Amino acid sequence: MREVIIGYQGEMSLKGLNRNQFESALMKILRYRLKDAGRFQVWCAQSTFYIEPEDDAADLDLAFARVSKVFGLAAVSRCAVCDKDFDAICAAAESYLGQALRQVKTFKVEARRADKSFPMTSPQLMRELGAFLLSRHPYLRVDVHQPDFKVIVEVRDRGAYVHGPKTPGEGGLPVGTSGRALNMLSGGIDSPVAAYRMAKRGLALDHIHFASPPYTSERARRKVIALAQRTTVYTGSCNLFIVPYTRPQECIRDNAPPMLFTVLMRRSMMRIAGQIAQRQGCEALVTGESLAQVASQTVQALRCTDAAQDLPVLRPLIGMDKTEIIETARRIGTFETSILPYEDCCTIFTPPHPKLRPTLEEVLEAEAAMPDLAALEAEAAASAQRLRIRIDDQTELDD
Ligand code: ATP
Ligand code: MG
Repeated sequence: MREVIIGYQGEMSLKGLNRNQFESALMKILRYRLKDAGRFQVWCAQSTFYIEPEDDAADLDLAFARVSKVFGLAAVSRCAVCDKDFDAICAAAESYLGQALRQVKTFKVEARRADKSFPMTSPQLMRELGAFLLSRHPYLRVDVHQPDFKVIVEVRDRGAYVHGPKTPGEGGLPVGTSGRALNMLSGGIDSPVAAYRMAKRGLALDHIHFASPPYTSERARRKVIALAQRTTVYTGSCNLFIVPYTRPQECIRDNAPPMLFTVLMRRSMMRIAGQIAQRQGCEALVTGESLAQVASQTVQALRCTDAAQDLPVLRPLIGMDKTEIIETARRIGTFETSILPYEDCCTIFTPPHPKLRPTLEEVLEAEAAMPDLAALEAEAAASAQRLRIRIDDQTELDD
């Protein structure tokens, strides 16, 4: 029996970009994400995406796992394909879904006839296929309102597709159709969730991480690489820039009022991120900040951070509670890695009482007293290490 994956298009509208552009972007993403899963033919017809293995070596389980995490698809189904012939449809439904029907008490058939040359109408097909399945599974009852199981038949151009209930997709927009941004990835819980949320709105992402060896460890660095890797199932393969941040951070520690240390460091990180973003053609920065979560995330502190560089700073978690963020982190598979207890450069040198409402004036004044900082930042940006994080590359933390 031939088996294929069907993806149903979700929201795909944006003034200026047309449906064709979205569809070809999505097809390109699908092909790219399936590269290591075998040979697949990917095509789109009538707003539906078809992913068909070209030979037996293709890994349909991996392909389905990948496709169900591609933004832009509202739902996905794994189906049996057969000829557009009633007997063939009955045979396919029984052999593909018979096992599932033996596990339930009630069912219903849904049929959709996109190919109007098929001789039976949709209601006819539903009735007749339902009767056939009841004859094979006499213990079943039909429940059209709340069935335990749905048998779905779609008669389309290239064949009849038979499957069980659709699996919800991730929704959102194909990655890249909204441009490219640089995500500030800390190793905490929030920033991988921020990456997920912005990729969902169609942004292609690279990540930037600030490391301050020897204050931060090799394990902390590996944790961030692992986090970037976990998010690739949503973002696709990406770059991770690791910035050696020790010297700018020491400069701030040694020369600025401790109360302003955090906000000054945040601004400094933003400037470096801004430089790397410009170099990479990223049009925005993304952070995992959430209003009032910590001292650097008050409205006044965010104003100071925003003023450090010109790109828009996107903060998709700004209105989310920690419990909501954790829920998402668990669902997308980053939580367990995020809670590994390695230090982040944001948590070293932090003063006991950071200023909750810093003003831009006092922050600029403190920076004016650190004339060497800009050069140290430029040097850090120039010596950032670029790592390619690939979707098919599993980084395991071994301790
Ligand atoms: P996370 O938000 O990821 O859990 P956190 O809660 O410790 O980390 P903060 O330290 O306040 O949050 O940092 C807020 C945001 O700043 C992070 O979400 C992240 O986007 C960015 N950030 C913090 N530290 C770093 C770092 N070392 N490298 C890159 N970005 C960072
Ligand atoms: Mg946070």
